Amino acid sequence: MKETRETTITLQPATETIPDLVRKILVQLGEDPEREGLQRTPERFAKALQFLTSGYRQDPEKLFNGAVFSVCYDQMVVVKDIEVFSMCEHHLLPFFGKCHVAYIPSKRVIGLSKIARLVNMYARRLQIQERLTSQIAKAIQEKLSPEGVGVIIEARHLCMVMRGVEKQNSSAMTSAMLGAFRDNKETRDEFLSLVSTPKS
Ligand code: ZN
Repeated sequence: MKETRETTITLQPATETIPDLVRKILVQLGEDPEREGLQRTPERFAKALQFLTSGYRQDPEKLFNGAVFSVCYDQMVVVKDIEVFSMCEHHLLPFFGKCHVAYIPSKRVIGLSKIARLVNMYARRLQIQERLTSQIAKAIQEKLSPEGVGVIIEARHLCMVMRGVEKQNSSAMTSAMLGAFRDNKETRDEFLSLVSTPKS
């Protein structure tokens, strides 16, 4: 008995692809994977999933390479309203919203567009919003050694809104404050006032 079970387990990874497994899920849901609309769905889903988790295959080292510049600017740099799309690791459903990133350089800055790419790199993985927020902050802290970093993400989670767990318009806010952003209330307040959009 035991031997048979082990054999089955070792065979699975080599024989079943994501599309194969999606076809099985469709059957489990009571669907017919061969009906017209669903025929190519397993392949499409596999492709979408590859893209949505492509951040695993990107290297933050490479992203920062050649994009870090020396400057004598020591005021706050803010990149606000970066669109963020990620996947909740508990339900494999999307969460999405806005990310605001700020840092106070200490001799080094990074190209502004790279910050958005850094956010994407960590968002395109299976995530929880809290970890995504702190990973972005830590990467900037490690690569630029700035005076401080602040990251805020405000996002809506489809696992909450679609299932009616919370009110339809609820969103979750997370923040990670390092260095001056954690220690200095004035710095933190400046960041918050720069990114808060007055509700019209
Ligand atoms: Zn979830």
